[in-house]
Amino acid sequence: MRQQIFEHVRAAGRATRTDVIRTLGISAGSATALTADLINAGLLREVDSVPRETGRGRPAVALEVIPETNFVIGIKLSDEAHSAVLTDFAGDAVATASLQTPAHPKSLDEILTEVGALMQDVLAAAQKNPNNIAAVGIGMSGIVDHQAGTVPWSPLLATRNSDFAAKFEARFSVPLHLDNDANMLTLAELWFGAGRAKSDFAVVTIEQGVGMGLVIDNRLYRGARGMGLELGHTKVQLDGALCRCGQRGCLEAYLADYALAREAATALHQQANDHHSPNALLTALFTQAKAGNEAAQTIFRRAGRYLSVGLANVVQLFDPALIIISGERMQYDYLYADEVLAEMHRLTLNDGRSACTVETHAWGDLVWARGATALALSAVTDQAVAAIS
Ligand SMILES: [Zn+2]
Repeated sequence: MRQQIFEHVRAAGRATRTDVIRTLGISAGSATALTADLINAGLLREVDSVPRETGRGRPAVALEVIPETNFVIGIKLSDEAHSAVLTDFAGDAVATASLQTPAHPKSLDEILTEVGALMQDVLAAAQKNPNNIAAVGIGMSGIVDHQAGTVPWSPLLATRNSDFAAKFEARFSVPLHLDNDANMLTLAELWFGAGRAKSDFAVVTIEQGVGMGLVIDNRLYRGARGMGLELGHTKVQLDGALCRCGQRGCLEAYLADYALAREAATALHQQANDHHSPNALLTALFTQAKAGNEAAQTIFRRAGRYLSVGLANVVQLFDPALIIISGERMQYDYLYADEVLAEMHRLTLNDGRSACTVETHAWGDLVWARGATALALSAVTDQAVAAIS
C-alpha cells in the first residue's frame, strides 16, 4: 500500500492526503501512518498545495516526490538510432540524447559500447556522473526475459540467448532492467501518458510484430514467465496464414508489417523476393490504396477487420477502460479507421454500458525511452519502499 500511495503521488505530481484516501480507498489513519513512513524514508515531502479558491483558510498540505532522491536513465534501442532520457525520481526528464548507429544486427559487445557512449552523452547533458544513477532501463524489440535479464532473440542482436543484463552490469556497475518494447511503451502510458488516469488499460503495438502491454489495477501485468503478452500470436484462423513464428493463423500473420508486405508484393505484381524492403512495399501499397487501387484497398481493409477481431478479443478478456493503439504505421489510416472501431464494437457483447475507449498514439523514440525510465524508476521505488519495513 505504501507503494500505491507513492505511485499515486508521483502520477499526480502533487496530491493531498484527502486525495490519497479517496483514490486508494484507505482509512485516514492508514494514510497518515503510511505517508509518514514515506516522508521519513526521504521519498516524499510536504508542500503547500494551491490555496483554496475562496482564498479563506490555510492552504491544504500536499505531498510530492523528492526529485533529487534518485536519478535513472531510460534507453530505447533501435536499428538506426538509440535514444536516452535521464529523469529524476519524480519522473521528470532532466536531459535527453540520441546516437546514430549502423542498421545491422550486432554483437552484444558492440551494442554495449554504443550504450556506453549514449550514457556518457546523456550524463554530460544532465551534468551528472555515473555515481548519480540508481538504475538503467532498456527496452528493445524481440523476445526479452525481463526477470532473467536475458534476450532469447532480438532483431538487433546477431546472436541468440544474450546474457544482456549480466554483461551490462559487469561493464557499467549499475543495475539494469530490461524489457520488451511493448511493455516499455505501456509503462510510458501508465506513468506519463493517457494511462495515468486509468487503473486498467491495454496498449496494442503494431509494427514489425503485434505486441501488447496490459495494466491491471495500476500495475503492468507481465504474466507468470515475464515474457510479455503476445497478442500477435493469438490465433484468429484455424489452419490460417503462416506466421513468422512458424505456426498458422496468428493475428500477426494478417496484420504486421511483414504480412502486409507479403500481400503487397502479390497485389503490386512484384516477386516476393525482389529487392524491396517491407517498408518500401508498404509505402507503395498505401500510395496505391489512396490512388484507388482496389486490390491494395482490400489488403488494408482485410487487415483492419483482423485488427477489429484482435481488439474485440482484448475487450472481452480484460474489460479495459481504454485501449491505446500505437505504432510507426499510424499513417496507414485504413487500419485506424472508424470502420475498424465500429467492427470491434460489433464483435463485442453489448450490455448497454459505455463502450471501451480506443485511442491511437504515434510516439517518437524519446517517449519509448521515457517508458524505459519508468522501468528503472519502478524497480528503484520497489527497493526504496521495501527497505522501509
Ligand atoms: Zn505467430
